[in-house]
Order: sequence, then C-alpha cells, then structure tokens
Amino acid sequence: MILFNNEKKIRNIYLRIAGSLKHPQPGVHIINSHYVTVNEVDLVNDHRIFEVYLKSLSKFATFISPQEATKRINENDIPKNKVLIAFTFDDGFEECYSIIAPLLEKYNCRGAFFINSNYVESDENYQREFNKRVAISTKKPMSWNQVIDLHKRGHVIGSHNLDHTNFAELKPKEIEFQLKRNKEILEAKLNYDNEYFAWTYGQMLHFPKAVLDITEKYHKYIFSGTNYKRYFSYNGRVLNRRHQEAFWPFSHVKYFVSTKKR
Ligand SMILES: [Zn+2]
Repeated sequence: MILFNNEKKIRNIYLRIAGSLKHPQPGVHIINSHYVTVNEVDLVNDHRIFEVYLKSLSKFATFISPQEATKRINENDIPKNKVLIAFTFDDGFEECYSIIAPLLEKYNCRGAFFINSNYVESDENYQREFNKRVAISTKKPMSWNQVIDLHKRGHVIGSHNLDHTNFAELKPKEIEFQLKRNKEILEAKLNYDNEYFAWTYGQMLHFPKAVLDITEKYHKYIFSGTNYKRYFSYNGRVLNRRHQEAFWPFSHVKYFVSTKKR
C-alpha cells in the first residue's frame, strides 16, 4: 500500500510537469468520465468543478457530440489543426442529470450517458451492491424520468450492461442476457434504437474477443476505456476513449489530450 501510494505520488508529479509542457494535439478525443466529484454530491462546488474543467478545455478545444466524434473517427475525418472533444459518462449517477448535462448544454454540447438499467431507480440494497462493484460509496442513480429527459434533450443514452457485471467473468449465456435485457429496457423506455455500448471496467482484459463477437449482435458502436493512443482497438471494431475525471489536476487532463493519436 505504501509502495502504491509512492508510485501514485511519482505518477502525479510526472503528469503535473508533463501536462504543463505538452500541447494539446489536433484530432478527435472521446473522454470517458463517471462523475464530477469524489465526495458526497455538493451542488454548488460540484457545479464549479465541472464548469472550471469545461472552461479550461474550451480555451483550446471545440466540443462536439458523441455522434459527430464517432462519425469522424469511423470516416477518418480527423482535423489536422483543431482539437475536438466529445464527452461520455458511465454508470448513470444522479449528478449526470443535475450537474453534468446542464453544464454541457451551457457550452452548446451534448454528451453520451452509458446506463445500467437495473441501477436506475433501484432500492438501497441494490445500490449498495452496485456501488461496491464500481468502487464508490455515496452515489445515487438517476430516475427513469431523468434518463428519458436527457434523451429528449439530445444526449445519447447508451448501454453499459444490465447490472455492471464484468463480462470477462461471465458465461456467454449470461453475457447475452445482460446485453439483451438492458437494450430491451432502454428501447422500451426511450422508444429508440440503442446503438451505443461501452463495456464495464473498460480495459481489454474485461472484454475478450469472444465477448466482442456477442456484443456486436446487439450494438453498432462499441467503446472501450483504454488504448487511447489509437482511435481503434480490435481492427476498427471498437472505439477507444480516454479515461479522465473533471476533478483531476488540470495538468493531467491536458497531458491526456496532448497524446498524439493514430
Ligand atoms: Zn462503469
């Protein structure tokens, strides 16, 4: 644990220095976040954290929708002199509705929210287990009315599987169920085609190729949370996102959008 803390410290110092030196790279960046603060939701301060983050990014970047980012990357329409950023949020916490979406809209931007349907409006027992799976302690989910409202306001509502299970640990039959049921619920609630999917935990080890083969039967666009230096993983079948949170030191954030991508 002590070693871990030291490594973390060194990494932080490195990112701070590197981030202050590097320049944001032109191209399309898809950001993957979860929430805007680590502690109990505090509407005033959390608004401020996310607003400062967006304001800082807007100084060198143009914000685009997840649809535009997806289209540009798939069509190899990557700008040579512009930094384009799209925002995506996983897990469907309440602050997606109360803080994140309104501020994105203030910047004339729409995001993508990847939802686990069983978490929406769940009871406290379910929330406790869910929160354990995503390693947080105090968050609450959105309600269906909130998810529906985000969809109506032009945000993308994607699937993040039914219960935030780890697909690397499940049998094919259970994976099918998690994908199929979540898609059915979302499509029934929102009356749309659920094309966007981001897998849980985001790393390649959580999504072996056999799982990708199953997932492609249900979703057109599939997103990772890793391999950010490349636009694609699995030969163009998966789009990579860069994980970062708005409350990280801004030098870290800048470092990550300064990576030259292929
Ligand atoms: Zn997640």
